[in-house]
This record gives sequence, C-alpha cells and structure tokens, in this order.
Amino acid sequence: MEQSFDVVVVGGGPVGLWLSCELRLAGVNVAVIERRTERTLQSRAGTMHSRTLEMFDLRGLVDRFLACGKPFPSWHYGMLETHLNFAALDSRFPQTLRIQQAATERLVAERAVELGIVFLTGHSAGTIWQDQSGVTVEGTTDQGPFRVKGRYLVGCDGARSLTRQQAGIAFPGHSATHTWLLGDVRLELPDDRPMLTEYNERGGVMIAPPGADGRRRVVLTTPEENNIAPATWEPTLDDMARTMRQVRGTDYNMRDPVWLSRFSNETRLAENYRRGRIFLAGDATHIHLPAAGQGLNVGLQDAFNLGWKLAAVIKGEADETLLDSYEAERRPVGEQLHENTMAQAVLMTAFTPGALGLRKMVSDCLAFPEVNEKLAGKISGFSVAYEDVGAMRAFSDAPCGTGVGIRVPNRRVRQADGSEVFVHELLSAGRWVHLSFGAGATVPLADALPEESVIRVSSSERPQRFFEGAAAVLIRPDGYSAGVV
Ligand SMILES: Cc1cc2nc3c(=O)[nH]c(=O)nc-3n(C[C@H](O)[C@H](O)[C@H](O)COP(=O)(O)OP(=O)(O)OC[C@H]3O[C@@H](n4cnc5c(N)ncnc54)[C@H](O)[C@@H]3O)c2cc1C
Repeated sequence: MEQSFDVVVVGGGPVGLWLSCELRLAGVNVAVIERRTERTLQSRAGTMHSRTLEMFDLRGLVDRFLACGKPFPSWHYGMLETHLNFAALDSRFPQTLRIQQAATERLVAERAVELGIVFLTGHSAGTIWQDQSGVTVEGTTDQGPFRVKGRYLVGCDGARSLTRQQAGIAFPGHSATHTWLLGDVRLELPDDRPMLTEYNERGGVMIAPPGADGRRRVVLTTPEENNIAPATWEPTLDDMARTMRQVRGTDYNMRDPVWLSRFSNETRLAENYRRGRIFLAGDATHIHLPAAGQGLNVGLQDAFNLGWKLAAVIKGEADETLLDSYEAERRPVGEQLHENTMAQAVLMTAFTPGALGLRKMVSDCLAFPEVNEKLAGKISGFSVAYEDVGAMRAFSDAPCGTGVGIRVPNRRVRQADGSEVFVHELLSAGRWVHLSFGAGATVPLADALPEESVIRVSSSERPQRFFEGAAAVLIRPDGYSAGVV
C-alpha cells in the first residue's frame, strides 16, 4: 500500500530530522525514511558553532543543547598556534559548544517526535523517481517492501546519497590524498588542559579535544599514514597508540576505545541542490575534511533554509520559483566550506620548511583581531548572508536594498504596551516577523503571504545597533532580513 505525504525525507540523521522538524512546525505533513532501527552511539561531530546555537535558540530549543555540551570561547583553525576567538561575535553564544553528535541527533529526534513527524525506521530506500505529481520511493523493510510518495522529496541520506545518484546529480570534486586516524579513547594526562595538540617537523600531527565520558577524541596523522592507508581501513588501538608515540613521544597509556576509525580529505560538492521535485541537504551535498568542525553545522543550516521555503510553497504562500533560491543561497556556503577545509588540509599536512613558514605566517595573521574576527565569523556560520534576493522578492514588494539578506541580530524590543521581547524569541513559532519603529511604517508584503503567517510588533524606538535608519524590518522564519524600509 502506498502512503502519501507533502514531503518525504530520505535519511533520519541529524539533518533529515531537523528538516522534518521545520516542516512539521509549519504544518506540513512529513515522513522521514531511515534504514537504521537504532540510533548510533558513535559521534562523528563534536563541535557546534554559534550560528547553529542561535538557530536552535530561534526555535526556543537551545537550552537542551547547552545542557549536553561544554562551551569553549575559542577553537583551532588548521591546528595553528593562534586559535579562532569567538568572543567578539555579537551573539548570545560567543563560543563553540563541544557536544557529541549522538546527543545532537537524540535531541533533534526528540523534537521531531514531539512535533508529530512520521518516522519510518528500518526502511531502506532503494528506488526513487519523480513525475509531474510528485516523487515515489520504493524500498524494503524486515516485513517486506514499502512504497511512499511525496509532493517533494529531500535526500538527507549522507555522503553516499542514493537520492543524489538516482536524481542524476553529479558530485564532482577531489579524491582523497591522505587519511587520518581517529579514536575515542581514554588517556592518562598529566593535567586537564582542554585541548591537546601537537604539530611537529618530524611530520606528525595530532589533536585531542575532550570527548564523551571522560574520553578524548584523538585525531592523528603522519606522512606514512597519509600515504598508505585507504579511508576504509580501520585502525586498531595498537595503530593509534604507536602513531601517537611517533607524534607525541608518548601514548598516555591509551586504552578503552569506543570508536576507532579513519577519515579522509575527499572533497565533493553536489553540482545542483535541486532537480525538479527532489532536493539534497547535508552530507548528501557536501563532503570535505572535517576541519574546525563544520559539516554538520552547515547541513543543519541547509535544512533551516529549505524547510520554510518548501512549507511556503506547499501552503500556497509562495510561487514554486522560491525553491530555486535554496541552491542560490546555500551552494555558495558549500563552496566556502570547501575552500576553507582544503586550505586547512594544506596547513595541517605540510611539513616542508616553506610550509612550516606558511603556518607561522597565517598564525601570526590570525593574531590581528580583525582577521581573527572575520575568519571566526565564517567558521561559525555567523557571517553567512544571502545576497541573491530571489527568496525575499517572493514575499515582499519592498525595494531590495541595503540590509536585506543579513542575519538579524538579537536585540530587545520595547512593545507598544511597554513590555520587552527579544527579536529571536519572536521567531520561535517559525513564522515571519514584522517589526516597525515609530510612526507605523510597513514593509509591503506580497499578496500570497497571509496575515496569520506574520507576527507584527510595533515599537516606539529602534534598538541600538539594529538596522540603522530603518523604519520597519521584515524577518524570514530563518532569521534573515527580507525587507527593510
Ligand atoms: C571524524 C569526523 C568528525 C566530524 N566532526 C564534525 C564536527 O565537529 N562538527 C560538524 O559540524 N561536523 C562534523 N563532521 C561532519 C558530520 O558528522 C556530518 O556532516 C553529519 O553527520 C551529516 O549529517 P547528515 O544528516 O547529512 O548525514 P548522516 O549523518 O550521514 O545521516 C544520513 C542518514 O541517512 C540514512 N540513510 C542513508 N541511505 C539511506 C537509504 N537508502 N534509506 C534510508 N536511510 C538512509 C543513514 O542511515 C543515516 O542515518 C565530522 C565528520 C567526521 C567524519
């Protein structure tokens, strides 16, 4: 029997589940198809950046994540001596949060269940095709075959995405040239410094930030490891300990691993994020060296960008063309992600005297606050801005000028009745927000956007450092400005 939904999401990893939350919040009928029956306890990601924390804050969820992680005011870039300093970010969260991906996935899954998504676990998608009316998925479960149809389908099915392949979307990029060993292990350390790093001219590199349950996430490579080992070759504890001794001179009595693995610098970006009624998000669109902890953060933001757009089209609030803005806005972010992870790969695996000089020079540059702030803004997702204004035009007839497509800062607004509210709080229901200051100015809305989709707040004064000179601001459900007058 065929089941029908507005949207079918293939892949119930963190990105697919977060997308389903956003769709459901907007009232869309959504099913997630996931082949696993149980959540994994292994955590690839351990770093959550400040724009992701803001994203969860926009939906009133951030405390759940903060309670499961540990904040760090700075983080490494290319394992350079000078770290990125997030303290200058104009945010409630000027930090990065160490939180295990398993915890992130659990929290997002809990939210999805609260919102009432249909979560089809133990369902492995096998064939996907689209026609004029929608997209059909056929696959298998332990109980036999299944068939599900959606008006739209989003492939959040990871790096080897079946959706991407069956939609015929190319995945060009660069093959792996080196691999790294990874182990979640216990170490006996002489002190409890948060980040243990080593980079030396013998050709060894190591990073060991805190992991879960008192363990460390040890990541290592050497020129020999780079050259010989395919990414699928899992290391043993002996391999890890031996390599650590080679790099660090000691293995700190390494023991008790919960996960030993290997990853590479294979870097690829989907040629398109959309083909007809099929979309891609998360690792299905971008893979790269996991340097400075960005892939999951970017994937969650992909979902945040796509969710409200799909919902608006399904509810008849916007024309189909709005959906093209997803690729226009998010693919450049994927390109930037690739550029900076490839640059970090060079910095982290270059041991010639010239390359060591380059490392020192870049590290010295990072000591300049303006340079540091700029890069911290990039890595944290904070400085993402959507200059292509197609998405905004669908909703507002206001002239697209300065201040459109930028992240709306979180300021306190005094309402007409004297009460105060933070702008980000106003976005918790995933609706549009219209703020007007002074004499009732308005950003003209497109006809299709119903009044009940917009929260209107009037204030006698514009907050400090908030859209200088503006009389009114229209804010998208994902917290970017859509119109400023
Ligand atoms: C060592 C390492 C460290 C990392 N550290 C960080 C970090 O600190 N910060 C960060 O932001 N990112 C990090 N990343 C990247 C991060 O782990 C990924 O970007 C993230 O897992 C992507 O999430 P996703 O939901 O797109 O894909 P996935 O997590 O891969 O989920 C895809 C889901 O789809 C399901 N699926 C696949 N095919 C099918 C099918 N045919 N039918 C049904 N279900 C299917 C899978 O079972 C899976 O549940 C790291 C990666 C690695 C390897």
